[in-house]
Amino acid sequence: MQYFIGNWKMFGVPRSINILNKINSFSSRDKNRNKYRIIITPPYTLIESFANRFKDKKIMIGSQNCYQKNQFSSDTSAISPYMIKSVGAKYTLVGHSDNRAEGDTNTMLKDKVSFALKNNLKVVFCIGENKSQKRNNKTFKVLKKQLTKVLKKKFDKKSIIVAYEPIWSIGTGKIPNQQDLLKTIIHIKKVLKTIFRSKSPAVLYGGSVDEDNIDMLRKIREIDGFLIGGASKSSKKFIDIIRNYYR
Ligand code: PEP
Repeated sequence: MQYFIGNWKMFGVPRSINILNKINSFSSRDKNRNKYRIIITPPYTLIESFANRFKDKKIMIGSQNCYQKNQFSSDTSAISPYMIKSVGAKYTLVGHSDNRAEGDTNTMLKDKVSFALKNNLKVVFCIGENKSQKRNNKTFKVLKKQLTKVLKKKFDKKSIIVAYEPIWSIGTGKIPNQQDLLKTIIHIKKVLKTIFRSKSPAVLYGGSVDEDNIDMLRKIREIDGFLIGGASKSSKKFIDIIRNYYR
């Protein structure tokens, strides 16, 4: 099963559902439709209406983040996994580099994963090195730490997906070369196998994925799917990514 996850970030109003209508009508007729899963993470404001519209359809809805508490609290503006689940989301991203930059610590991330799983949300846990860590050959060490500090054996592995998103690649148009990316995905899977003491969960790649570079990325069979930012805001680009992947 391949994953195509669209992260809309701060984008979208109710009429943006048209983008998903087009993706849905493509994927419901696509001959490869049983080979992949589509998940879209719109802003919180759109989760409920999108989840209702696509109930029992190919597209599943997730949130871009969640708060590190279970249900209700006195934290202004916070939205808990319980609240997200209650409006129909099935997934949540945790640890996106935007949120790490805003102060998410490993302890917070561990609580987010734990409470999300408790509320039956599947977690897409994002990791990735920055430019200077890459330049100083620290990538493997950084990724291992990000994984081992947050993911624990007691977590339900079947509800966790890891997305490798090098920070220097997000929104820049730059992607890792094929050889480096393959090695990194293998490294991540090895670390995950050690954490869970069994087969690795799915590992995705994210960072400037588009309808052209998917041609190179699809050759790396160890990648179990893609987390797509900018290109997921266009139905044409998102559909072309899927089309070109199965070409
Ligand atoms: C992201 O923000 O998760 C992302 C992958 O963005 P982009 O595809 O625009 O690089």
